[in-house]
Order: sequence, then C-alpha cells, then structure tokens
Amino acid sequence: MTRNIVIAGAGVSGLTLAERLTSTGEDVSVTVIEKESCPGGLARTFGRDGFLFDIGPHRFHTSDTDVNNYLLEILGDDHVTINRSSNVYMAGKYRSWPLTLKSVAGLPFPVLFRSFLDLFRKQSEVEHPTFADYVISKYGKNIYNYFFRGYTEKFTGCSADTLHIDWAEAGVNRAVIDKNVKADDLVSLLKSVLIPKPVSTSFYYPSYGGIQTFCDKQAQRIQNSGGRILYNCEALGIETANGKVSGVRTADSGVIPADHVYWSAPVSILFPDAGFQFMDTLLCNIALSKPQNNNYQWCYFGQEDILFSRLTVPRNFRADTVPQKADSLIVEITLNDPEHRNNPAVLNDRLIHQLESVDALQASDIIFMDWKLVSHTYPLYDLDYRERLSDLVLPEGLQLTGRCGSFWYNNMDHSIGEALAISTGQTFAKDFWK
Ligand SMILES: Cc1cc2nc3c(=O)[nH]c(=O)nc-3n(C[C@H](O)[C@H](O)[C@H](O)COP(=O)(O)OP(=O)(O)OC[C@H]3O[C@@H](n4cnc5c(N)ncnc54)[C@H](O)[C@@H]3O)c2cc1C
Repeated sequence: MTRNIVIAGAGVSGLTLAERLTSTGEDVSVTVIEKESCPGGLARTFGRDGFLFDIGPHRFHTSDTDVNNYLLEILGDDHVTINRSSNVYMAGKYRSWPLTLKSVAGLPFPVLFRSFLDLFRKQSEVEHPTFADYVISKYGKNIYNYFFRGYTEKFTGCSADTLHIDWAEAGVNRAVIDKNVKADDLVSLLKSVLIPKPVSTSFYYPSYGGIQTFCDKQAQRIQNSGGRILYNCEALGIETANGKVSGVRTADSGVIPADHVYWSAPVSILFPDAGFQFMDTLLCNIALSKPQNNNYQWCYFGQEDILFSRLTVPRNFRADTVPQKADSLIVEITLNDPEHRNNPAVLNDRLIHQLESVDALQASDIIFMDWKLVSHTYPLYDLDYRERLSDLVLPEGLQLTGRCGSFWYNNMDHSIGEALAISTGQTFAKDFWK
C-alpha cells in the first residue's frame, strides 16, 4: 500500500525529510506544503539588484558525521569552506568573539576588576534556575549585567529572569561554534583568554547563491524523485478520523489526504491555546555603493540603546554576494514594538544614525534599505514551556518536527539530523544543549 505522507513546511527540516523519503524507492506519496513562494524557511535568501541577503548569518557547521555527509551529498562540489570571523561590540569597540586577551585587556578596568572578583564569589544554589540565575552562576553578576542581561532583554523583549534556563543552555554557547574554545563559564572563559589555543573555526557555505541554494537543491531532488511541493499553500490544521490523522486542511486546496503528517510549521497553528510564543525579526537589508570597514562576518551588539542585536556582512561569506566594488549589511532587530510591524521604515533615520555611530556604514553610500519581516524566528522559552510541550496530546500519525514544529531552539544541522533519524524510523533526542 502506498503511504500517503504530507509534510507541512519546506524549511531545512521538511525538505530533508521529504528528500530522504522520496529517495528510498519505497512506495510513498510525499507532498510538501509551503506557505511561502520558495523553499528554505528560515534558511531563505532574499535577492535584489545583484545583492544577496540571508536571514542573518547562516553557516553550516556540525560535529555529526551523518549530517556532515548529508550536507556534502546535497551540495556536492557547490560549496566553499570559510574561516569564521565574528565580533562583539563592547565598550565602544569591535572585539573578536570569542574574546581574546587583546580584546579583554581593552575593557574598562572597573568591569574587569569586578568580574575578576566574581571568580571567588560562591554562587547560591537556586532550585529552579532561570536564564539570569544560570548566566550569573557561570559568568558572575558583573559580566551578566555588563553584557548578557541587556543583550538578552533587547533580543527577546522579556526580562531575563522570566526566561527558562534552556534559553541560556541553547543560546549562550551557540555563539561559540568551536568546542575547542571553551567559554561556558567564567573560569574557562578566563583560561581561553589567558592561554589561547590556536583555533581556526571553519564552516560550509554554498559556492553560489545564498544559504537557500542548499534548500533549492533539496527541492529539485524531491521533485526529480516524484515528490510534490506546493508553494503558496498555507496549512491551517489537520483533519482526524477515529483518533488518527486523515489529512491536512489548507487555505485554498481543501483537505489534502494523509495517513502520516510531519508538521514543521509553527506548533502554535495546531495548538493555538497552548501559549507557545515565538519571536519575529525585522531585517533591514542595506545595499551600499562602496566597501565599508566591516571586517567581521557577523557582530553582536548588546547595548540596550542600540536598536539592532546583530549585523552581518555578506561579502565576508562570499565576495560575489554583492556586485563588484559594492558592499552590504544585514541588520537584525527583534520586533518588540507592534507599531513597527507594518511600517518599519519609521526606524530608518534612527537606524542610520546608530549604524554611523558604530562605524558600520556611511549614510551617503546607501543605495537602498529593504525591510523584511520574518516571523517565528525563535521560540520563546518561558518558565513552564517544557510542561506545556509535554502536555500536548497528538493524534496517531502526527509528528511535530523541526524548529517551529517542535518548538526547538535549534540550528540547521539539528533539523537535518532529526529528519535523517525520522526518515529511517529512529528517534532523535533533542538534548543537544546538554
Ligand atoms: C537569524 C537567524 C540566524 C541563524 N543562523 C544559523 C546558522 O548560522 N547556522 C545554522 O545552522 N542555523 C542557523 N539558524 C537556525 C536555522 O535557520 C534553523 O534551525 C533552520 O532553518 C530551521 O529549519 P526548519 O525546517 O526546522 O524550520 P523553518 O525554517 O522555520 O521551516 C518551517 C517552514 O514552514 C513554513 N510554514 C510556516 N507556516 C506554515 C503554514 N501555515 N503552512 C505551510 N507552511 C508553513 C515556513 O514558511 C517554513 O518554510 C539561524 C536562524 C535565524 C533566525
């Protein structure tokens, strides 16, 4: 009997699953439903006038051999290996991230001194630690106040002591993408600064197009193997019969029959009353007529009075993401003010002024500023999100998957790893942050 499979969402996770299921040669009918007009989800790329803009910085890195092999199978020779170069903007200067001795030495002395004293302070035990408790216990109160609190509250729009500890466990070390650079507490941070190991961290990136090239290639393979991808098709929910999934309801194609549904679209669509919240991000993609002085691929900005949390420089991923002699910037701003949803351009003047004040661009070089609203960029881990997730009752034949489907603060490699496991009938533990 043909297995009738519907996958909601053509992001990395839905596409990997569809690509694997259609390549087995088994008797399966696979339909992917995607509300946007192209594949990629959060790993999409926007193009305009020869400029390519990913959704923030997107790079492939993994320590999982199966995921690595899969990445290379899909990209083939169409990939480049790039050395990472990331910065953090602290105390009015760009500093390399993870921090080095040189960059730490330039921090204001009172901050350094107080942070040093934190090494000797015993942290009190907390029964149900929050994000704030976790970071204070790892890095001390001073570094927490100096960097993590402001950055996190600006980024999430929530007070740091209302966020679940998982937000820290998943997010803080995510910024450090090489396990050789230990920075997961104050002592290891200090060691890595004082006794730096020569670390060269690299990642994969497609050799043409933006990060979406990977998903375009997956989509092509799915279609070549007989799978269907329906773009501009919004899944509204699932249909059930006798406690089992029977189809997916869509906005304009009626019900698509299915005996198995993998749901990688936001879980909040299926369970609107369960209180799952996501963050939305405003991207301002800026084209510039000539090269600026930004030497990093991406840079974090923790200051509360600065609108943006991160800047990305596409040409430092691959030179041909901008026309010759031009430059560009991707600015990420969390949508915390509902008034900016429909009219982000009201921020233009303030944004330009702030970008100039951190030497990221010269206003006279701007060719265009293209605003994009990307929804469901991050799951918001409030204090009882785990209980609410485990309380969900799913009908037989429905599986939640991927970043938004399973409310999982993950990366592309995690979405791929999970999809590879599901496609071979294995279970996948989502405890990567441990
Ligand atoms: C700013 C930013 C930077 C990142 N940087 C990196 C990085 O450097 N490296 C890395 O590995 N990862 C990075 N990530 C994470 C990475 O983007 C995600 O882990 C990955 O793309 C998730 O894929 P997914 O398929 O699980 O989810 P998604 O990409 O969210 O896919 C879900 C899909 O469902 C579709 N959809 C939504 N609603 C519906 C509906 N009602 N009906 C039909 N379809 C629907 C969406 O359009 C989307 O295509 C970053 C994420 C962000 C936001």
